[in-house]
Amino acid sequence: MTAKLIKGTEIREEILNEIEAEVKQIKEKHGAVPGLVTILVGENPASISYVTLKIKTAHRLGFNEVQDSQPADLPEADLLALIDKYNKDDSIHGILVQLPLPKHVDEKKVLNAIDPDKDVDGFHPVNVGRLMIGGDEVKFPPCTPAGIQEMIVRAGVETKGAEVVVVGRSNIVGKPIANMMLQKGPGANSTVTVVHTGTKDLEGHCKRADILIVAAGVPGLVKPEWIKPGACVIDVGVNRVGEKISEKTGKKIAILKGDVDFDEAKEIAGSITPVPGGVGPMTITMLMKNTLKSLKFKLGIA
Ligand code: NAD
Repeated sequence: MTAKLIKGTEIREEILNEIEAEVKQIKEKHGAVPGLVTILVGENPASISYVTLKIKTAHRLGFNEVQDSQPADLPEADLLALIDKYNKDDSIHGILVQLPLPKHVDEKKVLNAIDPDKDVDGFHPVNVGRLMIGGDEVKFPPCTPAGIQEMIVRAGVETKGAEVVVVGRSNIVGKPIANMMLQKGPGANSTVTVVHTGTKDLEGHCKRADILIVAAGVPGLVKPEWIKPGACVIDVGVNRVGEKISEKTGKKIAILKGDVDFDEAKEIAGSITPVPGGVGPMTITMLMKNTLKSLKFKLGIA
């Protein structure tokens, strides 16, 4: 069997087009556009390229995009004051502090200072709690898990009653996606198992999965024979396993590998995400969706 490819690059385009159309409508009717500020402290090259992509996407969608770059030695108190300023700014609906932060800054303190109603990353404890409660309580599901759920739904995979196995229990992927898939409602209502480094029989659990979501950060952790024939496999892992010269640009680029052995797994799974081009493109897309949602909450049209 050759699995259906769930392409994040294509789903991203579908969702971005939907957001773009909605932004236009809201602008015409309410005279407002989503406002997103990205605060970047220091000059971490990976953070700069990620932030650049966010800015490009926000511009394409017609957002009010504010880029606030600060020096690496910015005192913590000044960063907190900056967040306070954006918390009070009515033109800003989403505040994003790019991680990692310099070592002298307490990351937790900074993230907790963001107004939960502008926390479009969904990492504030209030939003984590809202996600846990589920239903109408949820304002901003964290972006990577939200992207995963969107991919499963748009691929037409039945989630109700499905055995979902999540490999990994991180706060940004494993725990929230497990929580989302067990909620009662469309695109969820699954029976969820979370496996991790303390799990005794990883293979046995994976083999039961109708939907296998792997977010461990270990290249090739999930072996092809662990996959149930016909299962939906979402590979969140992004692992740099070497370098190659890009045919397009002639420059050195990283060779990326997922947590699942793609070439063999695609012969067993019913549907599968590639790496790269699978879950990766979904994170920024869902950040844009959350920022639009934030404006809609403010206008009372969500
Ligand atoms: P993490 O290191 O915070 O968590 C990994 C989890 O996997 C841990 O809970 C750990 O218990 C589990 N794990 C690790 N090795 C294991 C093993 N041998 N057996 C069983 N469980 C094991 O990582 P994370 O932040 O959740 O990210 C996971 C992967 O997803 C990474 O490769 C990361 O780069 C990728 N990621 C991709 C995106 C995206 O594409 N947008 C976003 C976030 C993370």
